[in-house]
Amino acid sequence: MLELTSEQISMGQAASDKPAALRLLADRLVADGLVAEGYLQGLMDREAQGSTYLGQGIAIPHGTPATRDQVFTTGVRLLQFPEGVDWGDGQRVYLAIGIAAKSDEHLRLLQLLTRALGETDLGEALRRAATPEALLKLLQGAPQALALDAQMVSLGLPVDDFEELVWRGARLLRQADCVHGGFAGIVQGLAPLPLGEGLWWLHSEQEVTRPGLAFVTPERPLTYQGQAVNGLFCLASLGEAHEALLERLCALLIAGRGEELFHAANSRAVLEVLGGDIPPDWPSARVTLANAHGLHARPAKELAQLAKGFEGEIQIRVMGSGEGPVSAKSLSRLLSLGARRGQVLELAAEPAIAEQALAMLVSAIEQGLGEAVEPLPVATPEQLDTPQPPNLQAPAPAAGSTLRAVSAAPGIAIGPAHVEAPVQFTYPARGESPALERQRLETAVSQVREDLQQLIAGGAAKSIRDIFTTHLEMLEDPDLIDEVSQRLQQGDSAAAAWVVVIDSAAARQESLGDALLAERAADLRDIGRRVLAQLCGVQAAQAPDEPYVLVMDEVGPSDVARLDPARVAGILTARGGATAHSAIVARALGIPAVVGASEAVLRIAPGTPLLLDGQRGTLIVAPQPEVLERARIERDQRAQRLAAAAQRRHEPALTADGHRVEVCANVGEAAAVSAAVEQGAEGIGLLRTELIFMAHSQAPDEATQEAEYRRVLDALAGRPLVVRTLDVGGDKPLPYWPIPSEENPFLGVRGIRLTLQRPELMETQLRALLRAGQGRPLRIMFPMVATVEEWRQGRDMLERLRQAHPVEDLQVGIMIEVPSAALLAPVLAREVDFFSVGTNDLTQYTLAMDRGHPTLSAQADGLHPAVLQLIDITVRAAHAHGKWVGVCGELAADPLAVPILVGLGVDELSVSARSIAEVKASVRELSLPDAQRLAQRALSAASAPEVRALVEKQ
Ligand code: PEP
Ligand code: MG
Repeated sequence: MLELTSEQISMGQAASDKPAALRLLADRLVADGLVAEGYLQGLMDREAQGSTYLGQGIAIPHGTPATRDQVFTTGVRLLQFPEGVDWGDGQRVYLAIGIAAKSDEHLRLLQLLTRALGETDLGEALRRAATPEALLKLLQGAPQALALDAQMVSLGLPVDDFEELVWRGARLLRQADCVHGGFAGIVQGLAPLPLGEGLWWLHSEQEVTRPGLAFVTPERPLTYQGQAVNGLFCLASLGEAHEALLERLCALLIAGRGEELFHAANSRAVLEVLGGDIPPDWPSARVTLANAHGLHARPAKELAQLAKGFEGEIQIRVMGSGEGPVSAKSLSRLLSLGARRGQVLELAAEPAIAEQALAMLVSAIEQGLGEAVEPLPVATPEQLDTPQPPNLQAPAPAAGSTLRAVSAAPGIAIGPAHVEAPVQFTYPARGESPALERQRLETAVSQVREDLQQLIAGGAAKSIRDIFTTHLEMLEDPDLIDEVSQRLQQGDSAAAAWVVVIDSAAARQESLGDALLAERAADLRDIGRRVLAQLCGVQAAQAPDEPYVLVMDEVGPSDVARLDPARVAGILTARGGATAHSAIVARALGIPAVVGASEAVLRIAPGTPLLLDGQRGTLIVAPQPEVLERARIERDQRAQRLAAAAQRRHEPALTADGHRVEVCANVGEAAAVSAAVEQGAEGIGLLRTELIFMAHSQAPDEATQEAEYRRVLDALAGRPLVVRTLDVGGDKPLPYWPIPSEENPFLGVRGIRLTLQRPELMETQLRALLRAGQGRPLRIMFPMVATVEEWRQGRDMLERLRQAHPVEDLQVGIMIEVPSAALLAPVLAREVDFFSVGTNDLTQYTLAMDRGHPTLSAQADGLHPAVLQLIDITVRAAHAHGKWVGVCGELAADPLAVPILVGLGVDELSVSARSIAEVKASVRELSLPDAQRLAQRALSAASAPEVRALVEKQ
């Protein structure tokens, strides 16, 4: 987030003209590592498009969208020009604030600044400021006012106890951006202060971003510590903003008028008593902002100019922000809204001009205020009025047919199909009458409430009940109902009003960049669909009584609640790859799953018998009885095999003729090592150290890393550890390590390429490893090596550090993840101690198929003969020089791949801990000569399915 600090300010600068000032600014941004050299051009281009003069002697130069990729780190730098710089149009700039921003983070800065912009003579004061601190004080402007408006008041809440009331008060403050998420927990732990007349007070300064006061009352009488609870004030305290309010409140209570607050008919009455911001009772209209970078300077200027064309007051506010409305005619006030794409703006205008002004401004905002806008993913009533025809191109797969897709979670599932296809809801945009539409909405909401209560009472696990309880609470949210009611008054149909309100509330939560709130947004959409289905008379398909195969477009977060392994035998999805959410959920729950099977599966008739093989990634529709029987036998055999394998998990994996293959575990943290050893790991074959880095908010220092690596080695108790140096960049950046965005991150600066560019970071990691590894079997490998030079640079660095930190049992190797490394294996094998094949990346680079691609990843199969050829080259080269080869990609855990990898001569298989016992058992079923013959045949096969068929025939 952008904040202003005195270190960012350079005082007493001079520039002969605007280009010179921009150059100074760009130099400063470059020198401080915020942007690349080319950013100056972006600053100049932006000025050419329109002056960045803001008012009061301040300009805010920033780049164009085209130069965003030149920004390494979002930040600002401020230059004071006491002599002033001519910024064109007769404007003189005394302070230039250079912004380096990758997205719309600078809106926050504009919000901060606009508090100061209202002050008179700011420009002169900025010019005369003698120190950075004085300048900063001027920029911070007047102290923030206490946020207290209709959104901060919630009356008659259906709460069970005082704690819940506190939580609701804190939530209002959170929704208004007054506090961070931790505020609720803090006030829950404080002792509330009784004010008399059953009114209570709680406040905290912790986790507060701006001052705000919430007032909440319970629906029915409550008591707390034996005293009545009629209402609660919850204050986010910051500075002195609340003092005037507190005085007013005290006077009110002394006069015995507390009842006026908790018996108030509506929030307006409360605000009148407390002196909060009372919204004028003017006609209003709402519109969702679609501009990619929010209401930034240019569109805001356009809006202010349009508003100035009307003789009368026009106000605007961001719904759900908790901030009061501002004049639409003031550019600085518009910027202070900090409105982002997806947020709903409410415009209110004096009655005399309302009709014309609201229509014209809403239409201008919809059209982007002079910017080209991408439509929002929000269904407007008008769009939804015209039903979208379902895609009928792909017919349902025929009975007896076999479909191949992405294997996501192993196991065989047999059961009737329960299809949950996305439903197209159809409804009118305009309602018959507000009263009738309200009646419809109430009926639908109360039906959904009943359904949810039944689900909660239905004896599901606590985690599932919690999800439905949250849904129930969302359904009762008075703000939501309030917003819908307002739309009904404006003539919307119940369904149209409901859709718009739910979508904009969810979009608002998603746009806050908070993972937890984004999850809540998914829940909100879920509850939205339930009510909409009621309003449109769409019946949800009844799930079969027996265990079924759930067929869906994609499994979303809120669907997890329904994935009871006792009822859902298997999961089949139309979209998603092996790394999709659905796949991860299925694996975690142990439900066999096949994903990315195409839209055709959504048209399978409900109840059709399905046979799903999560291991092979296949689906058989309405299988013949004998096929089903075979599958049942296989399923039972697999269960028996797994049980037997678990019994022998601590024994080594020897083929029937005595050839040993080491089986190790892939882990990402020290805490997982003991469990892996317990599950039979003979060592760690891949420690993904980036997960350790990702668990910290900044790069862990040497001591922290050393301690973590020590914990790993301690838990291994003498077993070997293969560590991969930091593998980030490209698609998996570290938040505290800004990397310029790349057109094609998978082919960009990642893995060893990146760490070689930051040698101090790599050296710290290597030193920590060497220090922890003394007296233990330590193997270090470099990821994503594509050239011999990269390997040598990494090795030389390690050799240098090794002088000071000797480790007797140290081996140094590389991962084989890029085809060039496999093809160079004969050269590399002379120098490395070992290779570890990362088949996940090797497959994507060999086949040029993104490993997470939703439709291609089914074909990105590591058993493709082209990938096997590269593994073969690697193993031959290594063995010719007496070196060993491991495989640590997902392929190593694939039971059909184990015979081939063993047959190719791979010495070590490293897999996730839960696969160790099964992989060891697969090795024991082999004989080395048979596996070698099989591998040779696989090398000359034409495709991955052909290879799989070869293994299955064995
Ligand atoms: C691989 O690419 O196979 C591998 C093990 O590395 P990661 O999956 O972490 O990229
Ligand atoms: Mg990899």
